[in-house]
Amino acid sequence: MIKTKIVIGNWKMNPLTPKEAEKLFSGVAKLVSKIKKIEVVACPPALYIDKLKKISRKISLGAQNMFWEESGAYTGEISGEMLYNLGVKYVILGHSERRALGETNLEVNKKVRAALGVGLIPIFCLGEKERDENHEYLNFIKKQIEEGLVSISKDSISKIIIAYEPVWAISSTLNRKNATPDDSREMIVFIRKILSDKFGKNALDVRIIYGGSVSSKDALGFLQEGGADGLLVGKNSLDAKKFVEIINICEA
Ligand code: PEP
Repeated sequence: MIKTKIVIGNWKMNPLTPKEAEKLFSGVAKLVSKIKKIEVVACPPALYIDKLKKISRKISLGAQNMFWEESGAYTGEISGEMLYNLGVKYVILGHSERRALGETNLEVNKKVRAALGVGLIPIFCLGEKERDENHEYLNFIKKQIEEGLVSISKDSISKIIIAYEPVWAISSTLNRKNATPDDSREMIVFIRKILSDKFGKNALDVRIIYGGSVSSKDALGFLQEGGADGLLVGKNSLDAKKFVEIINICEA
């Protein structure tokens, strides 16, 4: 199976107004009109999605979270089915910023299963908070994968995108450090091995992407030496020009 490379923008809780959201989305849409080989995704705050989907079909839309139940008395939550009915294709799940608020592997797993159940593509985020000399962080990652993918079938695994995001490299982390393509490659090989042990050859079809302060300066390194099947971009997806520079690198 040929894996289409993917560049995903995670807008987080930005921007502040629908007008700014439209401006950013239109700016990217205008600049990506010639993109053919890769897929571009924007994950804005959910309340902007309905407006943005009318601007361009060139950019797929993703949400930043969802709840595992379909509907009911769950104040403040949005279900996967609601997102799907709105035209959303992807959903970021298990992002480190949600895990920092208390989201557990078990909850992430419920969300991954619910997302697949309604036809959404989960962008399953995982990553260690720090690296230690004894390589304990590898066990941490293994646990995130194993617990996050409980009851996922061999047939479903290739539908999931795994985003490896070392928390220590994410732009919002205090005293963050730069991750290198070697860091990414080492972990992507490790993640693929765990997936292969669990899902056999279907694991080869899973897109494993890298995220953590990606810019136009290091995007190529993460895609080539880093072995990533795509990129998850936070801060630099809030600037149309910077985001499109990264998209163009991936397309080329
Ligand atoms: C993220 O948090 O998903 C992310 C990739 O952020 P940044 O690019 O800003 O580090």
